[in-house]
Amino acid sequence: DPRLEAISAAIRVVPDFPKKGIMFQDITTLLLDHKAFKHTVDIFVDRYKDMQISVVAGVEARGFMFGPSIALAIGAKFVPLRKPGKLPGKVISESYELEYGHDCLEMHVDAVEPRERVIIIDDLAATGGTLSAAISLMESQGAEVVECACVIGLPEVKGQHKLKGKPLYVLVEPS
Ligand code: IMP
Repeated sequence: DPRLEAISAAIRVVPDFPKKGIMFQDITTLLLDHKAFKHTVDIFVDRYKDMQISVVAGVEARGFMFGPSIALAIGAKFVPLRKPGKLPGKVISESYELEYGHDCLEMHVDAVEPRERVIIIDDLAATGGTLSAAISLMESQGAEVVECACVIGLPEVKGQHKLKGKPLYVLVEPS
């Protein structure tokens, strides 16, 4: 797909951010490039439009930049999965391990119904820990996670192709 090259080219790599040794994949430059941004959303929409998906769940914060456009185009609702303490209603929480320490995602309990078909979206999958926590939140409510989707997949997570038994779809690898 020739669109993938344009997407790859629009992602900026920032060395030593947020700390030394990390090659940060910056999707804000992709958002500045209308064509590449549209290609990104279009590819996801083409993939999911006929799969009876009723929920697009986005991971804070960069999953919020792609998820709502996809949700509107495929006729699904958008559910934000947020960092702790941000959602005002009744929430469920899922903690997960990071390289150093841990983090947590929360979801409103009334955001999804049992058996709803969900895709989970974020900008980047590294270890897959964040997406696995997102899957756990959805499954705890009886929803069915059809697939996780990311713009960028680091090679280590792409090798597995599975998160808690769910498929992972990624558009590009870091250049
Ligand atoms: P994982 O849980 O190890 O798969 O890490 C994925 C999470 O870390 C996602 O929420 C990403 O937004 C974030 N992340 C890690 N590295 C990068 C990066 O280079 N660019 C943007 N986000 C990153």
